[in-house]
Amino acid sequence: MKSIITASYSVYFNETAYKSIAQHLSVTDYSKIFILVDENTKKHCLPIFLQNIASDSTMEVLEIPSGERHKNIATCTTLWERLSDLDADRKSVLINLGGGVITDLGGFVASTYKRGIAFINIPTTLLSMVDASVGGKTGVDLGSLKNQIGVINQPEMVLILPQFLKTLEALEVRSGTAEMLKHGLIQSRSYWERLRLKTDIHDIDPLIYESVVIKNKIVLEDPTEQNIRKILNFGHTLGHAIESSFLANADRQTLLHGEAIAIGMILESYLSFKILGLPLQELKDITATFIDRFGKIAFTNDDISSILSLLKFDKKNSHGHINFVLLEAIGKPTIDVKIPDHLFNEAFAYYKEL
Ligand code: NAD
Repeated sequence: MKSIITASYSVYFNETAYKSIAQHLSVTDYSKIFILVDENTKKHCLPIFLQNIASDSTMEVLEIPSGERHKNIATCTTLWERLSDLDADRKSVLINLGGGVITDLGGFVASTYKRGIAFINIPTTLLSMVDASVGGKTGVDLGSLKNQIGVINQPEMVLILPQFLKTLEALEVRSGTAEMLKHGLIQSRSYWERLRLKTDIHDIDPLIYESVVIKNKIVLEDPTEQNIRKILNFGHTLGHAIESSFLANADRQTLLHGEAIAIGMILESYLSFKILGLPLQELKDITATFIDRFGKIAFTNDDISSILSLLKFDKKNSHGHINFVLLEAIGKPTIDVKIPDHLFNEAFAYYKEL
């Protein structure tokens, strides 16, 4: 697979990935190499990575506990202190080997330690391969509010090694497919159609590749999210609010990112049908695809009130308005759509009746 060139770095796949990082480490004079993992990627991915990378350099492993609940400033402080204790200087590099929590948090720790050290991302979940691999968003949550603290900063390189997916839990794989399906909905009907028929990860490499190409094309056109890049937020405005609301409520199960945005995409497709005339058949196809894959969550009226009140924290808001990305049709998004309040409850009523 050819590497994908982003604004400032390349995304390398499979065997090219190992060669490229070995070459990069040999020509770049890093003073120290750190690898950030959680307990799962330490067990399942680190041994494979170390076996395959042809480098004699010593690498110091930094481990944090897995999970979104640890994607916070306290974990960053622990890592900044560890780096400092281990004499990391400005010429050090941090290799983030893990899912989106590791690449987001590790990218932020590297971007801020001593005003910024180099980092390399090796996403090990499907979600982080197809989504967090491009775009340079790094950061952490603030309490239960997702991704409120962070910076946009680019890694030196990204390596995508789909062999890591073999040990990923089925629910996590499913979560990643939500972002891939989104790429089809906002950009390519053909991709959407091919992907929605695919139910396992057998031979998934070309589809991962295509997702990264779609995301990269959008980000290259609008790196600072002034315009077209906003389409990547389809399903995320309500999806993030649902994710945050469940994260904040101890009685609720935690929803995986993909599970929350799958619901967000159903709700926002309903809004698209009401406001932009998304054809009814397309609304039905989108709804059926996500319900078949992800099942349904029962929302109480309290859940819905909490979700709607969280919308105001969405980072895409400006001047007190909540801006939505909706679909005129599959593959044809429209940005900056304002929604009358009563339609939110109507969208949840549509979802509840499914
Ligand atoms: P995650 O990093 O929590 O990983 C999910 C689980 O899988 C964890 O328990 C992890 O330890 C485990 N795991 C990871 N790789 C594994 C492997 N190969 N085998 C076995 N277990 C493995 O979650 P995620 O779904 O990868 O990412 C979600 C996060 O990514 C969210 O915080 C979200 O905000 C962020 N995100 C960022 C961007 C971006 O553009 N920066 C885009 C999308 C999502």
